[in-house]
Amino acid sequence: MSERAVQGTPFAGSERPSRSFGAGRTCKELGCETKLSMYNSGKYCYQHEPMSVPRTRGKKIA
Ligand SMILES: [Zn+2]
Repeated sequence: MSERAVQGTPFAGSERPSRSFGAGRTCKELGCETKLSMYNSGKYCYQHEPMSVPRTRGKKIA
């Protein structure tokens, strides 16, 4: 009988550097390859950002 070392946690090195927000990221939107700024904390580009969408200001449709 021989003891087998079961590998439960595969150390695949550092695949994605978790420094700041990471540079060279792209928009999460499918098909969108817009590169995100490393200062952009979001996952989407300015076009697909779910919040803070700059629309026509001052125009209220009642
Ligand atoms: Zn996008």
